Amino acid sequence: MLELDRVQQGKWPGIEVCSMAATILVAEDNEKNRQLIRDILLYHGFQVFEAENGAVAIEKAIRQRPDLILMDIQMPVMDGMTAARLIRTDPSLQGIPVIALTSFAMTGDRERLLEAGFDDYIAKPIDTRQLPEIVKRNLGNGIHEGNGIRPLSTGGTETC
Ligand code: MN
Repeated sequence: MLELDRVQQGKWPGIEVCSMAATILVAEDNEKNRQLIRDILLYHGFQVFEAENGAVAIEKAIRQRPDLILMDIQMPVMDGMTAARLIRTDPSLQGIPVIALTSFAMTGDRERLLEAGFDDYIAKPIDTRQLPEIVKRNLGNGIHEGNGIRPLSTGGTETC
């Protein structure tokens, strides 16, 4: 993970961690999973914020206004379902895609996730290729791998 450390610190020649890169909030209580997801997202040029439960996720979402939220379902203090429902009731957080991280694979669970306000879901164990694809799909147009082009909805396009 040496290369990723250098990218994170902005010391990798040719790769600039741009302050205008799309920001992803990762809410996940399992530290190893969180680290894996963070490394994948950093590698793809995203900025990452982390939360270890649903309550911290809501607090950080309000403060940092991420472009997208990845939300584990089973977490202590406040689970992902509850956090997603609360996010959907907060007017300041509307329009931010919330994607569930879940080991559930059944249709009924999928419907429950959508009903709770999730836009999409990513099945665990995390697939390192699928995760960035689903993130990009939910961010929509304007996000390009490796350089921080911000979607038009959050203040115009800017590159670095
Ligand atoms: Mn969990």
